[in-house]
Amino acid sequence: MTRSETLFEQAKHSIPGGVNSPVRAFRSVGGTPRFIARAQGAYMWDADGNRLIDYVGSWGPMVAGHAHPEVVAAVQAAAVDGLSYGAPTELEITMAEKVCELVPSIEMVRMTSSGTEATMSAIRLARGFTGRNFLIKFEGGYHGHGDSLLVKAGSGALTFGQPSSPGVPAELAQYTLTLDYNDSAQVKKVFAERGHEIACIIVEPVSGNMNCIPPVPGFLETLREVCDESGAVLIFDEVMTGFRVALGGAQQLYNVKPDITTLGKIIGGGMPVGAFGGRRDIMEHLSPLGAVYQAGTLSGNPIAMTAGLKMLEIISRENFYAELTSKTTYLLEGLQQAADAAGVAFMTQQVGGMFGLFFTTEARIDTYAQVTACNTERFNRFFHGMLNRGVYLAPSAYEAGFVSNAHSQADLDETIAIAKDVFASL
Ligand code: PMP
Repeated sequence: MTRSETLFEQAKHSIPGGVNSPVRAFRSVGGTPRFIARAQGAYMWDADGNRLIDYVGSWGPMVAGHAHPEVVAAVQAAAVDGLSYGAPTELEITMAEKVCELVPSIEMVRMTSSGTEATMSAIRLARGFTGRNFLIKFEGGYHGHGDSLLVKAGSGALTFGQPSSPGVPAELAQYTLTLDYNDSAQVKKVFAERGHEIACIIVEPVSGNMNCIPPVPGFLETLREVCDESGAVLIFDEVMTGFRVALGGAQQLYNVKPDITTLGKIIGGGMPVGAFGGRRDIMEHLSPLGAVYQAGTLSGNPIAMTAGLKMLEIISRENFYAELTSKTTYLLEGLQQAADAAGVAFMTQQVGGMFGLFFTTEARIDTYAQVTACNTERFNRFFHGMLNRGVYLAPSAYEAGFVSNAHSQADLDETIAIAKDVFASL
């Protein structure tokens, strides 16, 4: 048995499924998850000492590479002054001002300790602000595990939502309507019929939880329009896309401004951080200024703020995103050539530093239905082939991948060379 196999067996006795977040258990790809011992730059080392070129990056935060020396040094220096005070600090002002400067639509922001808290709070705020209950989300989107968001579509777009997890009351789920991502006509139809009841739309502006699907031209603009007409709040969930597809997130890239933005992952530099922010007149409804309650013992703690601020400084440097994007493009072109040479039906999609791998004959994937029609069995074999040769991809055909600026040309070339072998073996 490998050390990872031994640890996995041990973990299952005291941790449900052996993991603290389900996707880590490798359920969809099969096999044993690698237990990680340490990480540096583009690499992680597992408990058996294998070096892995990492394209997960802790699911997004490690855009500058693991254990970035400047982030580590800043956190070490901050730690001696105390880990958390539960009282305001100057650091939090610096963070808030930086976020307002970088993200086009944010005028005020509040910090949380996870992306889930950020989206839950944004939805409560939208409901409190509008006095309405219904929310719209899109199939294949993921916005954390808040009750209102663990809901799947009923029999049609206009019917009541059904809980997608036991423990979510049907009475609450009925207020969540699940529509088809990239289908503007359906959004318009639903708003024509019940726009006055809808508190908010929450959307990943680039969908990253059903592989990687960019918005089709006009989709985000339609969401903006129907919200303007109906008074609903437009929430861009940029937990993944924020500071990933561009310095100012997807809203900068596509030039559509939401009313509220949720952030996470990169903004914490690897520490547990989320944030939600947006229009001043909406944010002023939050407690203690307004009546909508939201709070957090560790929100804005000095270690998390220090790590996050250092990360924001690093990514604000000249050419960071040009480099990240061109590295990602280089990788994907190499993978495509390797697949073509092996005669494997394969296609990639990319937005900035995030990408998707699709085992399909389609030239382009715009919808959830198209994603679920891809060959997941082939993906799983590709995944394990890559992993056995030292390349760590997201352990699911439905997750986006991430490149970091710590990935060197040699790392990308090594990955492509390994992929050539693996494609040939499929
Ligand atoms: N929104 C999006 C778009 C996400 O990708 C995620 C997590 N992958 C979340 C929200 C939830 O964030 P967290 O896991 O930090 O709670």
